[in-house]
Amino acid sequence: MIYDALIIGGGLVGAAMAVALKQQQRRVALLEIRPPAADTAKLEQGWDARIYAISPANRAFLQSLQAWPSESRIQAVCRMDVRGDNGGRIEFDAEAIHAERLTSIAENRWLLAALWQQIRALDIPVFTEAAAAIATEIDSATLTLDNGETLKTKLIVGADGAGSWVRGQADIRVKEDAYGHHGVVANFHTEKSHGGTAYQWFKNGEVLAYLPLPGNKISMVWSTAEPEKLTLLPPEALAHAVTEQGGGILGKLSPLSPAFAFNLILRRPETTVAQRIMLIGDAAHTIHPLAGQGVNLGFGDVIEFAALSRGTPDLGAHQLLKRYMQNRLEPVRTMQLACDGLFRLFGNQSLPALPWLRNNGLNLVNAAAPLKHQMIKHAMGL
Ligand SMILES: Cc1cc2nc3c(=O)[nH]c(=O)nc-3n(C[C@H](O)[C@H](O)[C@H](O)COP(=O)(O)OP(=O)(O)OC[C@H]3O[C@@H](n4cnc5c(N)ncnc54)[C@H](O)[C@@H]3O)c2cc1C
Repeated sequence: MIYDALIIGGGLVGAAMAVALKQQQRRVALLEIRPPAADTAKLEQGWDARIYAISPANRAFLQSLQAWPSESRIQAVCRMDVRGDNGGRIEFDAEAIHAERLTSIAENRWLLAALWQQIRALDIPVFTEAAAAIATEIDSATLTLDNGETLKTKLIVGADGAGSWVRGQADIRVKEDAYGHHGVVANFHTEKSHGGTAYQWFKNGEVLAYLPLPGNKISMVWSTAEPEKLTLLPPEALAHAVTEQGGGILGKLSPLSPAFAFNLILRRPETTVAQRIMLIGDAAHTIHPLAGQGVNLGFGDVIEFAALSRGTPDLGAHQLLKRYMQNRLEPVRTMQLACDGLFRLFGNQSLPALPWLRNNGLNLVNAAAPLKHQMIKHAMGL
């Protein structure tokens, strides 16, 4: 038996790839060392602090996979309100572009559960043994597992996250630029209604976002060089600090989940394909979360490959992989550059003219409706 594709890593992006290819009647298998539990009863308890803003294009894609979570756990974002550090402000409104919403906030564990339900429903074989080695030839690849079992496939998909083992096996070097910041995330109850608005502040080189959750709840992401000043605080003191940093815009916040921090690193592998191997998701790129586009880029990889490969007999053919790499280069680089540029523009505290420039820049774009609408449509994947 030879698989059409063997996907290594069943996070959101690898799981979406498995379901998308299976829908095209491909012989796919998934290797995931930590598969999520099939029992969904625990999902209802609490709110996941790891949340994503899923673009309308990717929401439609997940719906087409029948892997979109219950709307009761989804918050539609109808407005975005972004504020600079010196009076600059830009607002985006769904109504202004005749859209029902700008983006949808969804929890990691609900998205993952919806995708894994499909993996089980479609009987996609799942291996949980660790991988030991990859060997590739012109027309196939072989994956050897720790227990000595071997799996033969036309294509190996590395969807195994930022520290990708597959990437290492393929000898693909990766350029890593640490931001010197961590993202601190936690959820809170709000005193006032957020009205479906997402807020973001650029202040003193730090970036704080309030992302609305259903009811009077938000998830915050705070990009900071000093994560301990937040993670070591008792819950009430953290809620107070987050209230203050957001200027009390939603009234007093109270704690809903513990805070945790993750290191922010820009990663750019020298290539995303090799003989019979391709990389997707965080294995292929990571970015600063200030635009909430990390996982959206990963779903974009899957959509592109699923479209390109439709009807082709050999999923690992050199020309197909090359086209995938070329077609993803521009959208990924553009997003990486945009997020990186914004972070550095607001992070630079030393050039005296910069605060004036960046805040007036925000106000100028805010006043230029066509440009603003174009920007938001691009982020929405429209
Ligand atoms: C702690 C943390 C918090 C984050 N919070 C946010 C956030 O709030 N907002 C946001 O936009 N982005 C966030 N991100 C980034 C976001 O999670 C990623 O962009 C997105 O999850 C990428 O999905 P992925 O499927 O490519 O990789 P991952 O989600 O990393 O999934 C990789 C999968 O591969 C499996 N795996 C790894 N190695 C192997 C192996 N050798 N064999 C088999 N399986 C393997 C892992 O178990 C995992 O399931 C966060 C990232 C981290 C690490």
